[in-house]
Amino acid sequence: MADSRPPTSRRGNGVTDTKQDVPFEGLSIAGERYEASDGAVREIHDPSTNTVIARVARATTDDVNRAVRAAYERFAAGEWRRASARRRGEVLGNVAALIRTNQERLAQLESRNAGKPIAAARSEIGSVATTFAFYAGAVDKVHGQTIPGAADGTVMTFREPLGVCGAIVPWNFPMLILSWKVAPALAMGNSVVVKPAELTPLTALAMADLAIEAGLPEGVLNVIPGSGSTAGHSLVRHPLVRKISFTGSTGVGTRVMQAAAEDITRVSLELGGKSASIVFADADLDTCVESSVSAVYDNAGQDCCARSRVLVERSIHDEFVRRFAQRAEQLRLGRTDDEATEFGPLISPGRRETVEGYVDLGKEEGATLVTGGQRPNGDLGDGNYLTPAVFTDVRSDMRLVREEVFGPVVGIQPFDSEDEAVALANDSIYGLSGSLWTRDVGRALRVARAVETGMLSVNSSNSVHIEAPFGGMKQSGIGREQGMVALDHYSEYKTVFIADT
Ligand code: NDP
Repeated sequence: MADSRPPTSRRGNGVTDTKQDVPFEGLSIAGERYEASDGAVREIHDPSTNTVIARVARATTDDVNRAVRAAYERFAAGEWRRASARRRGEVLGNVAALIRTNQERLAQLESRNAGKPIAAARSEIGSVATTFAFYAGAVDKVHGQTIPGAADGTVMTFREPLGVCGAIVPWNFPMLILSWKVAPALAMGNSVVVKPAELTPLTALAMADLAIEAGLPEGVLNVIPGSGSTAGHSLVRHPLVRKISFTGSTGVGTRVMQAAAEDITRVSLELGGKSASIVFADADLDTCVESSVSAVYDNAGQDCCARSRVLVERSIHDEFVRRFAQRAEQLRLGRTDDEATEFGPLISPGRRETVEGYVDLGKEEGATLVTGGQRPNGDLGDGNYLTPAVFTDVRSDMRLVREEVFGPVVGIQPFDSEDEAVALANDSIYGLSGSLWTRDVGRALRVARAVETGMLSVNSSNSVHIEAPFGGMKQSGIGREQGMVALDHYSEYKTVFIADT
């Protein structure tokens, strides 16, 4: 790393900028904090009040180059990639332990930066620790093979790290999605450069500090907040970056894949979704309604796995809508630091306007707005809140049904047969997640096989199991995160033949 600029802060959560009275956070490169090479800074807001909570350096292309160079030099030096699997596991285990020790501080940070109810933020940070613990235990279970074949020698495979991996992370689950990329990449011995979303860089920077405290060599993990068009694009195009793991919208994912193609940089993409929940008349309606409401409105609907299309067998459609709307109206909107809050703000004023645009569009397209889609008054007026919206009388050709709204909006649609339910569920460019509600095991298996989706839950809305593959079919992405399969995305096979002598 060839930069003589003094670090603006070392470790910790940044130093308070006395002029602004909020903490300043520098780029984290090789264990030090740096201002951006052009001095650019971005203000970070609390979505529940829209007040400034931090100022963060905004990486330029030069800064990205410096971070990649630092990561590459540390990879080439070899102390991490050549460390024993057991040692890498110990360090990842230390990371998990430090995250648990710091869980409350990290949860507060994530809650304020991403607008999450504090209880949800605590749970997410717990899952981050679980992710690192999983890969800490997985590292020494990954190995090559000795393959029978040639009579005149021995064929074997080695599993080798790729080199520098770039991780591009969205704002909806900032630290959790970071962990899904960073933990398996580090487990296999790679170096990593993380580009967090511009809106939510704070826990990513905290993560870089904790990794060093856990014993990770400096330069193996670097975090460079900055814009997608500059920092993100420069990371994808850097010739020393061997792999990009991207989570975000399908539109940006397309551009990332095109840019990565220039150097045959490996990509894995976790993209958008428009997942369906199929509710048959024999479902346990109490459990189904409660779970389906969470599956649409958790994280204020800003969830790639949100079941924003609910398909309900016609005989119970009206009853389902009545109960669903009633429960949606009961969801407790509130400040993110209130322990009782179930439903927080949208990430930014712009995102709320986009979602409001979809509410207007739904009405123009002829759908019926049963409830919600309003800005609340009173105490919450300064934040980006929008009440949970429920639409009925939707058709599959409506944009409201075809496009990912990424906000608290659901469309409920009746069906008359199992075949029609499957056809409606599959009538989408996406195929990320979904649910199926029935007590009939035979039907559950038939429909589970027929729905084109990466993940499907029967009588549940849970999509995330750290031990199992996570990812989508069709335009929802390429590759899988989590589970042992993620380790394949961060390693190469090398085949070695040794002739008998
Ligand atoms: P975006 O696609 O806008 O951004 C994702 C990340 O990519 C951000 O860090 C962004 O930077 C960066 N980026 C933007 N442009 C470029 C570029 N040209 N080159 C490289 N990087 C770039 O998505 P959002 O942040 O708005 O997240 C919401 C989307 O993410 C939804 O569509 C959702 O479905 C999807 N998502 C998918 C998940 C999955 O696992 N399948 C999980 C979570 C979300 P910047 O911060 O500057 O915008």
